[in-house]
Amino acid sequence: MAEVDKQFSVIIVGSGFASSFFLKRYLERAEESARVLVLERGQRVSHAERLKKKQIDADDADPVLGARKLFNNLNPRKDWAFTVGFGGSSNCWWACTPRFLPSDFSLHTNYGVGQDWPLSYEDLAPYYEEVESVFDVSGPPETAFPKKVPYPQPPHLLTTVDRMLEGKYPGEYFAQATARSRIARGKRSACCANGVCSLCPVDAKFTIENGMGDLYADPRVTLLCSAEVTAVDLQGNTAKGVFYSQEGEQNRASSDVVVLGANALFNPTLLMQSGDDSPHLGRGLCEQVARIVTVDLGVENVGGSTVINASGYMLYDGEHRRERAACLIESQNDMYLRLESGKHRHVAKFKLIYEDLPQSENRVFPSDDGRVSLAYEGHSDYTQRALDRIEKDVKSIFGVLPVEDLRIDLPPEQTESHILGTHRMGRSPEEGVVDAYGCHHRYRNLFVLGGGSFPTISPSNPTLTISALALRSAERLFV
Ligand SMILES: Cc1cc2nc3c(=O)[nH]c(=O)nc-3n(C[C@H](O)[C@H](O)[C@H](O)COP(=O)(O)OP(=O)(O)OC[C@H]3O[C@@H](n4cnc5c(N)ncnc54)[C@H](O)[C@@H]3O)c2cc1C
Ligand code: SF4
Repeated sequence: MAEVDKQFSVIIVGSGFASSFFLKRYLERAEESARVLVLERGQRVSHAERLKKKQIDADDADPVLGARKLFNNLNPRKDWAFTVGFGGSSNCWWACTPRFLPSDFSLHTNYGVGQDWPLSYEDLAPYYEEVESVFDVSGPPETAFPKKVPYPQPPHLLTTVDRMLEGKYPGEYFAQATARSRIARGKRSACCANGVCSLCPVDAKFTIENGMGDLYADPRVTLLCSAEVTAVDLQGNTAKGVFYSQEGEQNRASSDVVVLGANALFNPTLLMQSGDDSPHLGRGLCEQVARIVTVDLGVENVGGSTVINASGYMLYDGEHRRERAACLIESQNDMYLRLESGKHRHVAKFKLIYEDLPQSENRVFPSDDGRVSLAYEGHSDYTQRALDRIEKDVKSIFGVLPVEDLRIDLPPEQTESHILGTHRMGRSPEEGVVDAYGCHHRYRNLFVLGGGSFPTISPSNPTLTISALALRSAERLFV
């Protein structure tokens, strides 16, 4: 086994959002003598090369298929999606970037369900603002959540139907906050709503490569690609370093601090393989649950300047959350037509995204064949109670439009592409694997970052929050 010659200050596993935002803050605060090793299991492939090969995943031509090789899904009716490679799933994400609502952090206190987060919206607000600046987010002047400064980019344009809903639901319907650019700036073009965001042809959405790639050129950073971490070296209550394989060779590297940013499938399984027996580890595998609502209309629906135009909060927060899940409505503006002469654009499409409560029996664990096993039995009754009344809710919500017909379907993907809840945060080891800073309750020099740390699953997309939490985690090293 080869040993990397230096003792590193920090070893970071993965190069996605969590790792890169941790790295950003660390480099801003660390001394010139600091040494960071970043180990990334996939390759680094530029946007231009990806386009040439139509290659989304750094290691495979198809993001979902490529990643599927890495896990053993025990429930084929439920899919999960991510990509590997430098930049993680920033290469294939769709860049919807809402903040959570304040109540998302305190579901138990407010509504008597789920578990409160050990931090509040106010704790995270300054970090949200910073990530929105790095993402160069386009968003509306008014938002459903408290926000002190305007978004860096102007909002995307609304469609005819969005403008009608905005007028009917003041304070509840807004242009979507998104890291798909409204105006061309820096390395990014303006979004032109062609809706193939998994590999944006004009580089309009934020990726780690186009927005944070320079971090990895810092002389304090050593980035090793095609280097797969296989275990964390846990001794007593301390993480001493990691074991990794590269080009068939087994290696070990040592550090003062270890940071796992390998996502909610691999963070917990790496820890299990390393001997961590925290009771919640691997449990609570979760994501939101969605339905597609297509509304045939008596009016033409045109306009908009991006693929997901607007966000509706009409079914989100309120006393109903004592009994059933919150729902975020996304207005979809990809290419869809009504197949009736003269009525091709007399239609609107929405995605209704429901929160879930993590269930202990849904879990990930290492497979005997070296992959990760996913045992997912289904969403919570809390979510089901909201789904049971979807027809009534959508008829009421969209009844303000000139509706001719309305259909509710399952989304074809069988996944929201968000992997959450497998190393949740809590105030104590009895409540969670990590604390409010993503620091492991037992191994105090080990950070476990990403959506695995979410104790409840807001209907809002997770990555802005994952990134804000990672900035806050890195600051912990400097108090
Ligand atoms: C198609 C799609 C669309 C999405 N759209 C949105 C959206 O619009 N809005 C939103 O908020 N979220 C979206 N997401 C989710 C978002 O991409 C994730 O929340 C986010 O990428 C998680 O960031 P992360 O850094 O925790 O993990 P990842 O981005 O998954 O990064 C993990 C990194 O770790 C590396 N790695 C894994 N295991 C190892 C190992 N053993 N050794 C070394 N390296 C390792 C991986 O290669 C990768 O680089 C989408 C996801 C997909 C797949
Ligand atoms: S809608 Fe098109 S231009 Fe906009 S981010 Fe997606 S792929 Fe890029």
